[in-house]
Amino acid sequence: MISRIDLRGALPDDLRSVMPRADFDVEAALEKVRPICEDVRHHGVEAVLRYTRDFDGVELTTTRVPVQAIADALAGLDPAVRDALEEAIRRTRIVHRAQRRTDVTTQVVPGGTVTERWVPVDRVGLYVPGGKAVYPSSVVMNVVPAQEAGVRSLAVTSPAQKEFGGLPHPTILAACALLGVDEVYAAGGAQSLAMFAYGTEECPRVDLITGPGSIWVAAAKRYLRGVVGIDAEAGPTEIAILADASANPAYVAADLISQAEHDTIAASVLVTDSAELAEAVVAELEAQVARTKHRERVTEALAGRQSAIIEVSSLADGLAVVDAYAAEHLEIHTADAAAVAARVRNAGAVFVGDHSPVSLGDYLAGSNHVLPTGGCACHSSGLSVQSFLRGIHVVDYDRAALAEATARVVALAESEDLPAHGAALKARFDWEVPS
Ligand code: NAD
Repeated sequence: MISRIDLRGALPDDLRSVMPRADFDVEAALEKVRPICEDVRHHGVEAVLRYTRDFDGVELTTTRVPVQAIADALAGLDPAVRDALEEAIRRTRIVHRAQRRTDVTTQVVPGGTVTERWVPVDRVGLYVPGGKAVYPSSVVMNVVPAQEAGVRSLAVTSPAQKEFGGLPHPTILAACALLGVDEVYAAGGAQSLAMFAYGTEECPRVDLITGPGSIWVAAAKRYLRGVVGIDAEAGPTEIAILADASANPAYVAADLISQAEHDTIAASVLVTDSAELAEAVVAELEAQVARTKHRERVTEALAGRQSAIIEVSSLADGLAVVDAYAAEHLEIHTADAAAVAARVRNAGAVFVGDHSPVSLGDYLAGSNHVLPTGGCACHSSGLSVQSFLRGIHVVDYDRAALAEATARVVALAESEDLPAHGAALKARFDWEVPS
């Protein structure tokens, strides 16, 4: 069911090239997404509603969700789900509040300071997926860091759902209500991101878009980057598990299945130096997949080219492989898991030992679940308070400090053949200004 990659023996020089990856061709999706974005740019709400009809099968007259519908969704929320969402919000807030930045003033020279001032983005658009599954947890993971960063204006969009009269899923609306968000749109995919980026008659443009999503969302983010700020491309989910002979195969299999449940192109990868564990996990996968609800989706994801069991000769090689893969989620199931986890360099988030599964992080660990995928964890981080802040350098030199710097600025400016730069300083001290 799941393919095997044998990396016992010397590891190849270009490890990344042998990593299992989905056929997640964002460039190809861009061809489809470009006209959608341009259509929304030129035709506004009418175009968004047209794509909602075509892709989501819902005929709407407005993209804006009435505030009453948000309140009604909270009133109708299952109390157990409400309790779980409230606790998820509480824990996520604790972690993200600790990420707040304070302004730092550095005395560079006598009379000269540079202050790094952290300023939240003014207006943010948050995407909450809603195609194959619905993600009220993603509302929490997007909204809480934005609120903790101090973002003043916050809009959420999520696909219109036919079975709920064209509104986004009621649990998504209820999560918005619990977080105090009342600007919500029923729109999904590229058209909703274009709505945020260019603005429409109903939705003022935003400065930054965040949130995970399907290939259409990832492609629209790539197209709109620059028109608007974009967080990392958080695409189809991935789990990698680094495990040795001490791992419990039932836990490993259950966690591989848990992420395969997201999407047929979700990736589940086991890296192990134990042939016995590999065999035991294969047996567990067969047994557990037969019992799981979304068995067709899971089976397709596990059988896909993006999923594999990779055998290595040592834990050190295993660490090299998981660093090359740079998983969105990385679980460590080894002896002394915390020490092994401390050696990981590339991962969106690391989950240590038997009792920290990715599913905990998806909902209730307090960590953020909007994480970089497709190997982007080697250069990007997950969503955090920092994602919603800009650091502004405030430069404040007095006359004496500027005078002391002038000769060096002039020397550097002339070396770059930009003499007017030096002249700007000299003018303040009645020095000769070149004609
Ligand atoms: P989605 O909301 O991202 O995509 C559905 C929307 O795509 C639809 O509303 C529609 O407007 C548009 N669409 C559908 N078919 C289209 C087509 N042929 N052309 C253009 N647009 C089209 O929801 P989804 O499909 O369920 O995907 C969610 C993804 O988000 C999953 O892959 C999941 O793994 C991922 N996810 C990732 C993270 C993370 O942090 N990386 C977190 C949660 C979810």
